Amino acid sequence: MPLHSITFYRFALESFARDHQNSRKAVESHRNRLLRSLLLHAREHVTFQRPRLANVDLDKIRLTDIPATTKSAMMESFDATIADGVVTLEQAIATDSNKHRLELPIINGKYIVVKTSGTSGKPSWMVTGLRDWAILRGATFGRMARNWLTAGRVLQSPFRPIRTACLAAEHSHSMTWQASRSAELWARPFVNSRFYSVVESVDRIAQALNDYRPEYLHAYPTAAEMLARYRLDGGKLRFDPELMSVGSEALTDIARACIREAFPRTRLVDHYGMSECLPLSTECHHGNKHISTDYAILEAVDADDNPVQPGELSDHVLVTNLINRVQPVIRYRVDDSIRVSQEQCACGSVFPTVQVVGRKGSQIHLRNDGGMWQLLSPPVVVDTMLRTKGVSQFQVIHLRQNELRVKFIPSKGHEVASVAASVELQFANVLRRLNCFNSVTVVTEHVDRFERTEVGGKLLQTISLVPAPVSNQKIAA
Ligand SMILES: [Zn+2]
Repeated sequence: MPLHSITFYRFALESFARDHQNSRKAVESHRNRLLRSLLLHAREHVTFQRPRLANVDLDKIRLTDIPATTKSAMMESFDATIADGVVTLEQAIATDSNKHRLELPIINGKYIVVKTSGTSGKPSWMVTGLRDWAILRGATFGRMARNWLTAGRVLQSPFRPIRTACLAAEHSHSMTWQASRSAELWARPFVNSRFYSVVESVDRIAQALNDYRPEYLHAYPTAAEMLARYRLDGGKLRFDPELMSVGSEALTDIARACIREAFPRTRLVDHYGMSECLPLSTECHHGNKHISTDYAILEAVDADDNPVQPGELSDHVLVTNLINRVQPVIRYRVDDSIRVSQEQCACGSVFPTVQVVGRKGSQIHLRNDGGMWQLLSPPVVVDTMLRTKGVSQFQVIHLRQNELRVKFIPSKGHEVASVAASVELQFANVLRRLNCFNSVTVVTEHVDRFERTEVGGKLLQTISLVPAPVSNQKIAA
């Protein structure tokens, strides 16, 4: 059994056990131990973190003594954000140059790289040591298992591996793909994990899933909704996963209702995670997202980074990942609006709950070449843009039905015409796979800056000015 499999299962069990033990004291002491050790490590080994942590009393840690940081601040000093400089920005970027071959982007056999676009639309890079990644991956699996696995099923798994599947954008730098691929490598022989690309016709996706019959399916909410609609419209789906988790984008009430109607026997779990920290939260059967405070710290803060009162809506979030030692993420700004509650949930869990209000980006509903509705969801748009060459920032707008405008700022040293050609090529690829190539027009436009009209100055990367199809409204009623 590979070393990382042992780590994966060890931390899956540990995460599951702590969840079941359900003791506030045990969670807090675990968290405090990890936090202290993370800060000590970061101060000693990470140039970027040293001045930020200079005034912290490690025996009496107050997070508010540490200034907040941002994605762009970390990107500007990327090499200094890596412990002992074991990975350089050049090495991270180089993992993106091999034409997106579907392999885990691993440097020197030890460090995994994720490329994100984030709310600014600028690509950025995060590095995690493989062992830490296996811990985060195992912990996420362990937390998810409480919603689903029985002791009986676990005991059968050596003879009949548990079947899990993931339906998302297939891209070697996507966090979701990496999570699925690493489970495929490390969770064997007790768990079989398979990945299905969401950029595919729903018929083909349905057929492939019917052949595999997953017990647990993870998907983007829009992809899960697409499958649900397919079934409700009479399409054949010959499986009912016991657990379906969704993440990476907002789960709308319409989508939730539609998925529940199509999969009445399935537990639906909305997962709130992010590239900077995978196992942030897991939803319980009362519909509350419990924060994994033993792996991450989520601070709900106002525009000046001061903590808001429990129950109050935050301007943004500061995230601390308690596991990643190679590129520590400490009080790192993420532009989601959240509300954290310390009130006891009816499920009995001691973990606080979080309500996520702002995960930005609209869904784009296209008419495909056969006249049917086809979703182009924000993560697929981001994935398409991450495949382009020479884009510094972007915004995709659905102007009129089936008319897309892609605005972009070219990166330094890139010709506008070649960047536009690269955007057009990637959109042509995705539209062809979605069976929308002949019905959708894409116009590119290069701009010098973006208007930030939204509260908080955030740039919306995906905007739809076209109302959602009426069939969605029917289901909501
Ligand atoms: Zn609960």
